[in-house]
Amino acid sequence: MKHYGIAQWVDFARGVTPEQEGSIMGEHLATGCLECRQAADFCDKLARVCLAVAPLRAPEAVVRNARAIFPIRWPERSKRAVRIAAELIYDSFLVPVPAGMRASWQVGWQALYRAGDCSLDLRIEPELQSSRAAVIGQISNHTVPETEMANIPICLRSGRLVVAETLSNRFGEFQMEYEQQGRIQLCVYLDGGVRRIQVPLKTLVADKHAGRDRLNMGAASGKKRPGVYEE
Ligand SMILES: [Zn+2]
Repeated sequence: MKHYGIAQWVDFARGVTPEQEGSIMGEHLATGCLECRQAADFCDKLARVCLAVAPLRAPEAVVRNARAIFPIRWPERSKRAVRIAAELIYDSFLVPVPAGMRASWQVGWQALYRAGDCSLDLRIEPELQSSRAAVIGQISNHTVPETEMANIPICLRSGRLVVAETLSNRFGEFQMEYEQQGRIQLCVYLDGGVRRIQVPLKTLVADKHAGRDRLNMGAASGKKRPGVYEE
């Protein structure tokens, strides 16, 4: 007797099995095969649940988490992506701390880049007592603000190594967690990978000896700045 696998029962439940094959599978179920009946019933229930939840929109935070778990199918990544020159418009480390404000309040680094008609907002938050950090950002088109900015591939690279990758949401927002290592570059691939924005990320070092919200300089430099960085 020929039995059927789970993949075939999934197709059967979704009603996409070719007609002839489907009727043979139906006949097989009618013979009382318990194993296949269980698989068919399970797939039937699963298909129903999927149909019922399909119209519901998952919360943005859940989608972001799911994207972080599963590998992303990137649009074809062109190796010849033309790099768009990016200009640093704002750097939170270069702005003087207002008088009276505790230097240690500045945790993380914020920057704004302009590249062509795009603006790239970035914030890096180091994880305390760890070399990990999170980058939170948004890509937008400041010339034509209504430009669709969803599903833009963004990755972090350390040399040739891709450290993290994600896709922007429908607001052009993205978030990645990563291990700070070497010189990390953030790359944004525009127009299906034809053009690319590439900017360096600061490496933030959380001070193990200072208070919880205190950042300190990496080993080599003696400069005293709040929220310190290495290029
Ligand atoms: Zn069977």
